[in-house]
Amino acid sequence: MTKKYNRFETAVIHEGYDAKEMLGSLSVPLFQTSTYVFDSAEQGEKRFAGEETGYIYSRLGNPTVNVLEERIAALENAERGLAFGSGMAAVSAVLIALTKANDHVLCSSGLYGCTYGLFMMMKEKYNIASDFSMLDSREEIRSYIKPETSVIYVETPINPTMQVIDLKMVAEVAKEYNIPVVVDNTFCTPYLQRPLDLGCDVVIHSATKYIGGHGDVIAGLVAGKKDFLDSVAMTTQKDIGGIISPFDAWLLIRGLKTLPIRMDRHCDNAKEIFSKLKSHPKADKIYFPGDVNHSNYVIANQQMKASGGMISFEVKGSKQDAQNLMNKLQFIKVAVSLGDAETLIEHPATMTHAVIPEAARLEMGITDQLIRLSVGLEAWEDIWQDLEQALNQI
Ligand SMILES: *Cc1c(COP(=O)(O)O)cnc(C)c1O
Repeated sequence: MTKKYNRFETAVIHEGYDAKEMLGSLSVPLFQTSTYVFDSAEQGEKRFAGEETGYIYSRLGNPTVNVLEERIAALENAERGLAFGSGMAAVSAVLIALTKANDHVLCSSGLYGCTYGLFMMMKEKYNIASDFSMLDSREEIRSYIKPETSVIYVETPINPTMQVIDLKMVAEVAKEYNIPVVVDNTFCTPYLQRPLDLGCDVVIHSATKYIGGHGDVIAGLVAGKKDFLDSVAMTTQKDIGGIISPFDAWLLIRGLKTLPIRMDRHCDNAKEIFSKLKSHPKADKIYFPGDVNHSNYVIANQQMKASGGMISFEVKGSKQDAQNLMNKLQFIKVAVSLGDAETLIEHPATMTHAVIPEAARLEMGITDQLIRLSVGLEAWEDIWQDLEQALNQI
């Protein structure tokens, strides 16, 4: 696609939509329709044959959804974007498109729980083997690559322990072997990190999180090269059918408009909370990419515009102390998900990462005392006050 707006803050509001084409409607209209009426039988024939462009049926394309797809493509500096009914629908459509039976995939050593589950299913049903690595040097990456490696799949920062993977380095090594690099960019959004600019091939989002930003939609987005996304659109999107509803696309278009200002506030608030937590006697190990003592601080600083709104930390004490802390909170909400206006707190060991066997979980640093905080948009002083009073009671 050709981008019209180079500055992110303008593109999130205007890219992919021309009000003149829609009766002057300032807001992108909601096309809540399943199908489209043809002028004649012959026109229907031509549309199906691809000889005439135009809408056919909303699983194949919808004007509201198309605005969203063009917008995410522009924001990620991609040739094309696609929208899905959930982050997992996006992940599965991309992975099924890129793999076949007996392939091998190399993944970052921390993955979203359901993505991990999908890889396990692919192993069982199609004998697709997966390896997990911190991908922290060229030699390390090369040591895992096999002739049948068909994807390198990366999350960064890794949830919930916030290690950062050097995307440029991973992409450079992958290029030597012609292996596509897929990045789950949910934690950063294109405002903080643009993996395609660093040489990666495909970006995936759970748009449920920061992109929607208001805790009212489940959705997924993909951005990448036109050829690959055309093939996903015609196969794993169209035929498996995990599409987004026009209304959810409309909500995401609305949410995206404020993404830059929301992200700035999430990032600023997280920095304040981090600096307070650091000196609280009940807070132990703190995982935050904006920590100058963080092992990946240099890479984080290079590839991310700011350090994000997510902080994890260990509570000094036991699992019970961690749970007590959560139960003592006043307005901070105990909930999974992230990126909402509300500050959310969760316990990875018993919630988002409960499916991982204990030994593997502990090796990933996900102890029973670990807490994950999605810092919201409230006044940081209030967020800290709530957290501090709860910490003081354990
Ligand atoms: C939430 C999440 C997903 C899954 O997205 P859904 O919208 O819940 O299907 C994938 N990756 C990451 C990093 C997530 O946080």
